Amino acid sequence: MTLLFAPPPPVLVPTSDGHDYPVRRIFCVGRNYAEHAREMGFDPDREPPFFFTKWAETVVLSDAAVPYPQATSDFQHEVELVVAIGSSGRDIPVDAALDHVWGYAVGLDMTRRDLQMAARAKGRPWDTGKNVEASSPIGTLHPRAALGDAASGTIGLTVNGAVRQRADLSMLIWSVPEVVAFLSGLYRLEPGDLIYTGTPAGVAPVVAGDVLEASIAGLAPLRVTIAPPAP
Ligand code: MN
Repeated sequence: MTLLFAPPPPVLVPTSDGHDYPVRRIFCVGRNYAEHAREMGFDPDREPPFFFTKWAETVVLSDAAVPYPQATSDFQHEVELVVAIGSSGRDIPVDAALDHVWGYAVGLDMTRRDLQMAARAKGRPWDTGKNVEASSPIGTLHPRAALGDAASGTIGLTVNGAVRQRADLSMLIWSVPEVVAFLSGLYRLEPGDLIYTGTPAGVAPVVAGDVLEASIAGLAPLRVTIAPPAP
């Protein structure tokens, strides 16, 4: 048998120890910092975490361009800690969750906010707002030892050098082990699964030409430029 067309290339994220991490799936946590929940119009009581998904092909590596997507006039940044799963498991207990974490990176959950809010208002899925081409920039992945349980450390984002988001990982409503444990109760996690753990306050729109620099203490920074719409 012959393939009808070439399959897509694997999505690979470079690691700080000289390997490539093949991406399988992308899970994202909604509203995991209280101040961001408030800015989106919600009371940040500790309701169970909720998740949405993106295609692996939405990954963009550091120093690449993110073309401004179609069908939006409100494309926004969300800086996030990304957890990279290294071994499979379902119904993982919180105290064993870190055993399934390969490492961490800085990420951006770029969002067509206007489409997300329109969907939210009608109780419809968020896919068209969130699962967007080139919407998942990610920096170099570091082995777990770089951050341990990622319980604290500054997370921030500048746009053209001006601070737009700045918080601490200790402000996560649901910790990394709790997020991994909870998600593994919904899906069997597999190596290659990335979890974007939610954004702190300060989300705002970008325009073509903006330079975004995302950082988390202890990890390689992530830098992307918003480019004009792709043809
Ligand atoms: Mn997000």
